[in-house]
Amino acid sequence: MGEAAPDIAIIGAGIGGLVAAALLHRAGFPVRVYEQAREFQRLGAGIQQSPNAVKVLRGLGIEGRVREVAYAPDAINHRDGYTGALKYERKIGAFIEQKYNAPHLLLHRGDLHAAIASCLPENCLRLGHRLESLSETADGVTLDFVGGANARADIVIGADGVHSTVRDLVFGKTPGRFTGRVAWRTIFPASLLPNPTVAETTKWWGRDRHIVIYFTKPDRSEVYFVTSTPEPNYSVESWSAVGDMEQLRAAYADFHPDVRAVLASCPAAHKWALLERDPMPQWSTRRVTLLGDACHPMTPYMAQGAATAMEDAMVLARCLAQFPEDGLHRYQETRKARTAMIQNASGRNDLDNFKAVAEAVYGYDATAVELAA
Ligand SMILES: Cc1cc2nc3c(=O)[nH]c(=O)nc-3n(C[C@H](O)[C@H](O)[C@H](O)COP(=O)(O)OP(=O)(O)OC[C@H]3O[C@@H](n4cnc5c(N)ncnc54)[C@H](O)[C@@H]3O)c2cc1C
Repeated sequence: MGEAAPDIAIIGAGIGGLVAAALLHRAGFPVRVYEQAREFQRLGAGIQQSPNAVKVLRGLGIEGRVREVAYAPDAINHRDGYTGALKYERKIGAFIEQKYNAPHLLLHRGDLHAAIASCLPENCLRLGHRLESLSETADGVTLDFVGGANARADIVIGADGVHSTVRDLVFGKTPGRFTGRVAWRTIFPASLLPNPTVAETTKWWGRDRHIVIYFTKPDRSEVYFVTSTPEPNYSVESWSAVGDMEQLRAAYADFHPDVRAVLASCPAAHKWALLERDPMPQWSTRRVTLLGDACHPMTPYMAQGAATAMEDAMVLARCLAQFPEDGLHRYQETRKARTAMIQNASGRNDLDNFKAVAEAVYGYDATAVELAA
């Protein structure tokens, strides 16, 4: 890329925004990332990196680093929440690695974020910059931030998450539909458990709720859980809202003793209301586009929100590098059908649906997929 490479501004330094920044920088674009937070916080959350996501990490050159900090069990078990009966053993480990030429990893979200952030060029990150407004003209995009700072760019990527300001400003507000359910989640030291076997990688299915429990470190020193729990009167979508552990324990009081042991050992948890949104018909203009939760937020039941944001970033970087004239449009057209499929599939939280789409979800390779004409 020569001197004429367009200036790119990315709004949001979450997982998708950072992957995009690193890949675009590598492709030769001048990139700046504007993030509202004043510092990165290590959120107490686990994250699954399925083979389609690991292929993006490989493209970034950090697969090895991420493997070193991740837990890679042989299987994810699906069990009846009350009896513990095995409903389905989903083999991962060596089996999935052979099948898709990439592993399925479980790790701390903060470790993943730090690994991706290590790929950023120096001085590209502007913390404490909350986008307030933007204006697109034929010549470029101006950006105004809370507090009076402003900037200009040739291309703007809104990677600013489920409450995206870029999306609201450019495409209009799209309110979500509250599902009446809440995801409780936390990470805590496994030394608090009565024994480690109670927290081995399992999705426990109840009649109207579930809980997923797994380790997030190779030495099994940290345990994570995330739930889908009915709570019709709580609709706050936030990473920082804290819940009452007694309420959570009561919600799983009739579950298998292993689940109750994990909840009894856990000191504190956060809760995130689960909202659904329909796929957007378009998310690119000539100079502005969206990626990740900003354009296709999904319920976390298939653990694909970050994975698809990372795929977006890879496809977007390839489109901009290869097609400077209409890269944003090609990116949107390459990604729309896939992300709509996963958004819809994620909304149906059932095992048969999961098995039906797993091949398509995990088999995708954003580094090689054909780009739309
Ligand atoms: C409980 C739960 C469990 C999940 N588990 C998984 C999983 O196992 N695997 C998986 O792949 N996905 C999972 N997801 C989904 C995943 O967390 C999201 O899809 C992913 O974080 C989206 O990444 P993103 O970069 O699009 O947005 P985000 O990670 O939300 O980042 C957006 C960034 O933009 C910043 N920002 C927002 N507004 C502004 C503004 N106006 N100006 C400047 N900056 C701004 C924010 O501060 C933030 O840093 C889970 C989600 C939940 C809720």
